[in-house]
Amino acid sequence: MTTIKLYNTLTRQTDNFEPINKGLVKIYTCGPTVYDYLHIGNWYTYIRKDILIRLLQSQDFKIQWIINITDVGHLTDDQDDGEDKLQKKATATRQTAWQIADFYTQNFLELWQTLNLTQPTKFVKATDHISDQIELITQIESKGYSYVINDGVYFDTSLFQDYAKFSQLDLDEQQTSQRINHNPDKKNLADFALWKFSPKDKKRDMEWPSPWGIGFPGWHIECSAMSMKYLGPTFDIHTGGIDHIPVHHTNEIAQSMAVTNQPLANYWIHSNHVTVNGQKISKSLGNGLRLEDIIKQGFTYQDIRLHVLESHYRSQSKFSLDNLTNSHNRFLSWQEKIVLLYQNNQLNSTLPTVNFNQPKEEIINYLADDLNTPMVLKTIDQLFNQINYTNFKPSELKDFVVFLDQILGFQLSSIDDISHKNKDLIIQRSDYKKQSNWAEADKIRQHLLSQKIGLKDEPDQSYWYYL
Ligand code: AMP
Ligand code: ZN
Repeated sequence: MTTIKLYNTLTRQTDNFEPINKGLVKIYTCGPTVYDYLHIGNWYTYIRKDILIRLLQSQDFKIQWIINITDVGHLTDDQDDGEDKLQKKATATRQTAWQIADFYTQNFLELWQTLNLTQPTKFVKATDHISDQIELITQIESKGYSYVINDGVYFDTSLFQDYAKFSQLDLDEQQTSQRINHNPDKKNLADFALWKFSPKDKKRDMEWPSPWGIGFPGWHIECSAMSMKYLGPTFDIHTGGIDHIPVHHTNEIAQSMAVTNQPLANYWIHSNHVTVNGQKISKSLGNGLRLEDIIKQGFTYQDIRLHVLESHYRSQSKFSLDNLTNSHNRFLSWQEKIVLLYQNNQLNSTLPTVNFNQPKEEIINYLADDLNTPMVLKTIDQLFNQINYTNFKPSELKDFVVFLDQILGFQLSSIDDISHKNKDLIIQRSDYKKQSNWAEADKIRQHLLSQKIGLKDEPDQSYWYYL
């Protein structure tokens, strides 16, 4: 078994990964807030988590993976001011928050399949776990960490000694920095809502009774309640984007530890942001393309996956359609070698054949080294560059393709052969060429081109590939 090393935000270093229970990994991923379509930046984050899961599976770990769906309580300002994002969208579009949640959750789950992302053990919705959240707030209250003001129940961050430690926050600086729109009754600026009261003059679509009054949960309590319910008070890995470090994850840690007095998770893995034109992609800025729009432009989910893996998850990556076109071409160059499996290759038994075992080992080692996906792709390029019509054993190439599918989720093994009819045309074209009938030979080439099939003429035969 290979040692997996992961950069851990908790320790600010790359740690060797060791799960709490031998052979089992419990992992929680902060999922989307379903008030809009996900943008390509959101999908980067989930593709990256998928690779981590695939790596763990390759090392024979059993996985318990929980992903939440935030369908209530995420306010327009992460620090618990402003409006509920779903309720705001509902009002603007004259629908209910329930309709908004259903629609975008459905879209998210469908696209999860489109991208061939690993199915988690469970997707959990915040609105299905209100009683668990109320129960957790009650425990926080009984430990003396909460207080009630006019608009909700808040967590007193000054009572949790290590509050600033996780994100290395400068609380004094935060306290003195100019902020508008925060509730002046909060004891400390960093205090956050555990439960918010419904406005007195308006009925919200989503609201529930609680010991403190009718209202709805805060975004952070949802993740604490659901992660601990399914994975226990301390689990192995908690993941999210870097935007979660200063507020959302800091608050999750504070309120969970206030109750359990033990770490919430041992490894915290955060992916960096994706930018477009130098700006972070964000739903509120509306500057991110949707997956469906990218696919409509002729790209496949494999192009997108490959593009995501071209940058390291901790570096800031730039999204552009030009970059995606390069990924598309890279993927085609891999396919060109894989479809040799369907062709009559001339293995030259006097020359050494391509060795697939060493690259396999290298790929696992690069992934185990804090998910170094750019180096994984480079290794694959180098291997495919070595392959030609005479130097590989088909069973070994097939086996390697299955390995790549498992580890990177490309579904390369489902690339189809061309039809018998097209194969016959290629033979016919060779005959035309032998007869120097260039016009007929060219007609066949054009016909195949129109079906996105290209031809490479070698002395002994013509080889086809997809364009
Ligand atoms: P949200 O729906 O806004 O809560 O975000 C869902 C996930 O996408 C979270 O893990 C965010 O950290 C992540 N995310 C948001 N914007 C970006 C971005 N521009 N690049 C990468 N990940 C992002
Ligand atoms: Zn979360």
